[in-house]
Amino acid sequence: MTRLWNEPADFADEMIDGFVAANERYVRRVPGGVVRSTVSPAGQVAVVVGGGSGHYPAFGGLVGPGLAHGAAMGNLFASPSTQQVFAVAKAADNGGGVFFSYGNYAGDVLNFDAAQERLRGEGIACETVTVTDDIVSAEPDEKHKRRGIAGDLTVFRIAAAAAEAGADLAEVTRLARLANERTRSFGVAFTGCTLPGAEQPLFTVPEGRMAIGLGIHGEPGVDETGIPTADGLAELLVDKLLAEVPDGVTVEGARVVPILNGLGSLKYEEMFVVYRRIAQLLAAAGIEIVDPHVGEYCTSFDMAGTSLTLFWLDESLEALWQAPVDTPAYRRGSVAPQERVDAATVEAATADTVVAPGDEASRAVAATVLAAVQAIVDTVDTHVDELGRIDAIAGDGDHGIGMQRGSHAALVAAAAAVEAGAGARTTLERAADAWSDRAGGTSGALWGVILTAIAARLGDERAPDAAAVAAGVRAGAQGVMDYGKAEVGDKTLVDALVPFAATLSQGVDGGGGLIDAWRDAAAAATSAAESTAALLPRMGRARTHGQNSVGTPDPGAISLALIATAIGETLAAGPLAAEPHHDDKENAHVD
Ligand code: ADP
Ligand code: MG
Repeated sequence: MTRLWNEPADFADEMIDGFVAANERYVRRVPGGVVRSTVSPAGQVAVVVGGGSGHYPAFGGLVGPGLAHGAAMGNLFASPSTQQVFAVAKAADNGGGVFFSYGNYAGDVLNFDAAQERLRGEGIACETVTVTDDIVSAEPDEKHKRRGIAGDLTVFRIAAAAAEAGADLAEVTRLARLANERTRSFGVAFTGCTLPGAEQPLFTVPEGRMAIGLGIHGEPGVDETGIPTADGLAELLVDKLLAEVPDGVTVEGARVVPILNGLGSLKYEEMFVVYRRIAQLLAAAGIEIVDPHVGEYCTSFDMAGTSLTLFWLDESLEALWQAPVDTPAYRRGSVAPQERVDAATVEAATADTVVAPGDEASRAVAATVLAAVQAIVDTVDTHVDELGRIDAIAGDGDHGIGMQRGSHAALVAAAAAVEAGAGARTTLERAADAWSDRAGGTSGALWGVILTAIAARLGDERAPDAAAVAAGVRAGAQGVMDYGKAEVGDKTLVDALVPFAATLSQGVDGGGGLIDAWRDAAAAATSAAESTAALLPRMGRARTHGQNSVGTPDPGAISLALIATAIGETLAAGPLAAEPHHDDKENAHVD
């Protein structure tokens, strides 16, 4: 249970403010998270970590000499946006390239990948290793799909120690990958957690029971039992992990760092009792214990539970493990006093806020763009509860509020752009950025991709023709598949977006005009979205509890179809889109 907050919506921001105020020795605030407040050597690879908030000390508490250079900090349990990750990476960069590492969650992957692409586009080298330590979350032959939990710490530390020792980006990446290969975790939980302001826990474990393999955001476990004794739990954890030893490792004589991680409200004393038996069992298996950790390294708000991580060292990893670390929440050895960054040289990475004015025709289209965003807001507001309800069946129940946050932010940004005289492209681009920045979650990032792709085809000069709009939608669909890696049939919004794009292009190519083509495309998206009810999800959060969702359509596909329909109605009512040719549009008058 969480007791103290002001506005629940402000909780994450206020938490970060307070965290920084209490730790100025280590960190300073930048847009999107925190970076070190100490000077790093020029040319050193910058290790940037991150994820949703609610997992303290992950991720901000792990920023400082010997560990991360920066942490992108999203909303509670929500991925940081692409803009946030990018801004933190820019602020952390020392000229030696940026290394990203984070738990392998769909929303984080989308946003960090998009930020990586942006960095590379600016000539900043960037590489990524996602942490996949939780052995419950996928079978060994699909290890790359596993999620990251407390094993984050080993991968982050190895990457950072290598960077600190002067390794280049390729070498940091290689070592981090090796560390991830040799890190395995297994967890259990006794209670769920309750986010600030929520009436109900986000998820629950029945009283007196123990969930086996429950994820740190409530992703369901694989089994449930009675609560064992402390020794019984130690045996379960060790058995599971010794049954899946990394390739090339012999248990007898192996050197291992055990990490017994508390998830938020388990007592240290209880964990010590469990660890006592873990140490005995590891020793009995012939394992040499190195630098054991018992404490909180990655929590799940106020969840009661614990996980055991085994980090199977080799010589190179053990040497790096000896490096000293000094961060707000984690210290090892002693780090020499560090020079602080001079406040005067701190320059926050700021977004380009000056709007280049569009020509008259494009400004007229921008007004239609604004009306379309308003239509999105209205339809999302109308269906917010229903979208949340559908998402709760197989996902985490936040699809309605995520779409609401995103679309409302997009409307504010689009209105400001129109007010400043922007053309259609700039107006929609600003809306797309605001959407993905504020929405959080997977769908927020994907809506950013869709709208950005359409914006690029609208231009800031002259009015686009219907073919340009259709091409933009096709590019958006392709972009979503490139980023999210889902295909038609995986039960995602791709199932609605692909037929929408195809029908729109067909109609436009057939000379039918944008309005009619859009209406037919929206109908195609609607029936495709409804048909997702029969499918098993293969992507995103919903993958792990797929069976539950058969019979219910995919929330992202449904919201996309609702939005397509609402925009179609707006276009049909608007003055401009009735004219399929831009020559006509140039003469059109709008106010
Ligand atoms: P989150 O899953 O991060 O909580 P939302 O609840 O806002 O985000 O959105 C969930 C929707 O996102 C799903 O219903 C699905 O349509 C879409 N989605 C999830 N993963 C993918 C993916 N890899 N590609 C395309 N769409 C996806
Ligand atoms: Mg969700």
